[in-house]
Amino acid sequence: MTVLVTGGAGYIGSHMVLALRDRGEQVTVLDDLSTGLQSLLLPEVPFVQGDIGDDAVLDAVLSDPSIDTVIHFAARIVVPDSVADPLGYYLNNTVKAHRLISACVRHGIKRFIFSSTAAVYGETGSEPVLESSTLNPISPYGRSKWMVEWMLRDTAAAHDFKALVLRYFNVVGADPQGRSGQSGRNATHLIKVAVETALGLRPHMTLFGTDYPTPDGTCIRDYIHVSDLIAAHLCGLDHLRQSPDGFSVYNCAYGRGASVLEVIDSVKRISGVDFTVLQAGRRAGDPASIIADGQALRRDLGWQPRHDSLDEMVRHALQWERKHSNLQPYSIQS
Ligand code: UDP
Repeated sequence: MTVLVTGGAGYIGSHMVLALRDRGEQVTVLDDLSTGLQSLLLPEVPFVQGDIGDDAVLDAVLSDPSIDTVIHFAARIVVPDSVADPLGYYLNNTVKAHRLISACVRHGIKRFIFSSTAAVYGETGSEPVLESSTLNPISPYGRSKWMVEWMLRDTAAAHDFKALVLRYFNVVGADPQGRSGQSGRNATHLIKVAVETALGLRPHMTLFGTDYPTPDGTCIRDYIHVSDLIAAHLCGLDHLRQSPDGFSVYNCAYGRGASVLEVIDSVKRISGVDFTVLQAGRRAGDPASIIADGQALRRDLGWQPRHDSLDEMVRHALQWERKHSNLQPYSIQS
């Protein structure tokens, strides 16, 4: 039994590969290295550099008869970019997922785990969102993922194919052992940007929007440590191997939110640096608040979070950034 991890050279995918290897699973990685990094690949894990939308690549990779599960991370993930480039997002996240799922059916792959997103919910209000809550994505990113959820649901109904959709809330932090973390320049995600600013890689950071209908006026998100997110995938993989369920969807989150100001405060406290935060207007496509009801994952899959404190997530992000950034200031700031 081999698990194919698409996007295995990326931030979350590389943590998945580590966790699978830690428990002795066979893994193959497919990644086009457009945003993933060669340095995050493990030398002992077979790696194919290629596009998940390329039938020839998929047929070559999936002709390995030991591959029976695909965990699909490869995607574009920046909400404001999706607003600026919707067709690019629908191509990468939706059309190419269609190619990948089609290849899985063609090659008799029985199990598929899909990285979906809280962005499928859209404006959720202050109530925690359940998996059964109304979906009303407000960005092309959210819609690009929602369409894949539908494809998987319909494919699971029509074929011998089980699919698990995991809706990620805001994934942060880094491997506690320092083996992987968020890398790459031009980061847009809050904790990464704040950590880079604390370490002097940026002269300042920008806070987008202080007039949201939240207690301190800044957006609220349900941040989840990447290692807990990966633990959810392992529970999901075990579930798919044992369960007759053809299709299921779970939120991946702790069920509790932090505001942008609370995150910035945590980064300042943990780093000991009082960096400059500029205030700007709202960023396109940002809902005011997204908090999950994360009970179903615990109840049905036996998931148990181990790193659910904001300070710990920030500490691991800082630890990774200190170790792996070359501490050169960036030329482009935002
Ligand atoms: N944010 C911010 N400054 C930044 C990056 C993000 O104020 O440099 C805010 C952003 O507007 C949102 C929250 O932080 O309200 C989380 O954004 P992020 O990009 O981390 O995740 P998203 O929820 O958009 O996936």
